[in-house]
Amino acid sequence: MEKLLLGPGPSNTAPQVLEALARPTIGHLDPDFLELMDRVQQSLRQLFRTKNPVSIPVSGTGSAGMETLLVNLIEPGERIVIAVNGVFGGRAADLAQRLGADVETVTMPWGQPVDPEAVEQALRKKPARHLFFVHAETSTGALSDAATLANLAREHGALCLMDCVTSLTGLPVEIDDWGVDAAFSGTQKCLSVPPGLSPITLGPRALEKISQRGASPPSWYLDLSMVEKYWGPERSYHHTAPINMIYGLDAGMTLALEEGLDRRFDRHREAHQALRRGLEALGLSLLPPEGSRLPMLNAIELPAEVDEPALRQRLLGEHGIEVGAGLGELRGKVIRVGIMGHNAHRQNVVTFLAAFAECLSHQGRPVDPGAGVAAAITSA
Ligand SMILES: *Cc1c(COP(=O)(O)O)cnc(C)c1O
Repeated sequence: MEKLLLGPGPSNTAPQVLEALARPTIGHLDPDFLELMDRVQQSLRQLFRTKNPVSIPVSGTGSAGMETLLVNLIEPGERIVIAVNGVFGGRAADLAQRLGADVETVTMPWGQPVDPEAVEQALRKKPARHLFFVHAETSTGALSDAATLANLAREHGALCLMDCVTSLTGLPVEIDDWGVDAAFSGTQKCLSVPPGLSPITLGPRALEKISQRGASPPSWYLDLSMVEKYWGPERSYHHTAPINMIYGLDAGMTLALEEGLDRRFDRHREAHQALRRGLEALGLSLLPPEGSRLPMLNAIELPAEVDEPALRQRLLGEHGIEVGAGLGELRGKVIRVGIMGHNAHRQNVVTFLAAFAECLSHQGRPVDPGAGVAAAITSA
C-alpha cells in the first residue's frame, strides 16, 4: 500500500512526476537537455511570479537554497536581521553566524507570525544589509505577511531574503509585486516532486550585491557566479546537473501551471478549511491564531494526556498515514499535518480525520469519528 504522506514534507509524488523521473537519462550538455533547462527556468519564473532572469533549481534540498542565498549574499561583518518564529529562521541564523555575519535575531513565540513592528525596531536601531524571514514556517504552521516585511526591508535599505519552501504553489508567492530580492524553495512540499532540488530566484539588487563582493563566496559548489555559467547562455560545465530530478521538476511545474496557480491555492485552502471544521467537531484546534494559519501545514494542539509518539506510530503502522512530530519546544504537544500539493484534497482530509479519531479512541480518549468526517464533508 502506498503510504499517505501528510507530514511536513515530502508529500506524495504525483504519478506524472514519477513517470518523468523514470525517463532515460541524457547528458547534461545534450541539446535536448539544454532546451529543457530553458523551459524549467521559464516555469520557475511563473511559479515565483517574477521576471528575474536568475531563477534556477539548485542541486540539493531546500536547505541548499538557503545556503546558496546566504553564502553568496553575506560578507563577513555585515549586519543581518533574521526573524525567528520557528525552526527555519533559527537555521538561517545559525548559517549566517557561521559566515561571520553580525546577526540580530528578532524572536517571536512559536505559532505566531513574524511581527513587523519588532522587525522595524531592529532595522531602525542600526542599519542592516539584509533582512531574512520565513514566509510559511513549517515547524509551527504560521503564515507571515511577506509584502509588509519586504516593504520594511526596502524602506530601510536592506536586501529582502525570503524562505518560501513550503508556500510555493500552495499560497500566493509574489516575488516582483512584493519586492523580494532573493528567495528559495524546495521540491518536496507543495510541488509534490521528491526532495532533491531547491528553486531559487534573485533580483537585480541581489545580483548587484554579489557582483560587488570583495572575495569569492566560501562555498565552491554553491558559488552562483559559477553555477550561473551553466544555467545561463554560456552552458559551461560546473557540476553535473541531476538530470532525472530536473525531468521530475519540469513535470511537477507543468502540472501546477496547467492547473493554474490560483486554482491550486484555492484547492489548498478548501482542504485546510475541511480539516479545520473536522478538528473543531472533535474538540481540537490549531496552534497559530486565525488569520495567520497556513493552509498546507496544520499544527494540531493535542490534549495533555495524549501520548504523541504512540499516536503517530499508530497512524503510520495501522493506517499508513505519516504526520510530523512537533519540533523543539512543541515536541509532544502538537502533530503537524501537511496537506500539500498533490495531496490537497478533501478525500485525504477525511481519511486522516477518521484514522486520527481511531487513534485517539485507542488511547482511551473516545471521540466520534463520524462527527469529524461529517463536519469536513459539509461545505462551508
Ligand atoms: C522543509 C523546509 C526547509 C528545508 O528544506 P529541506 O528540503 O529539508 O532541506 C526550509 N525551510 C522551510 C520553511 C521548510 O519547510
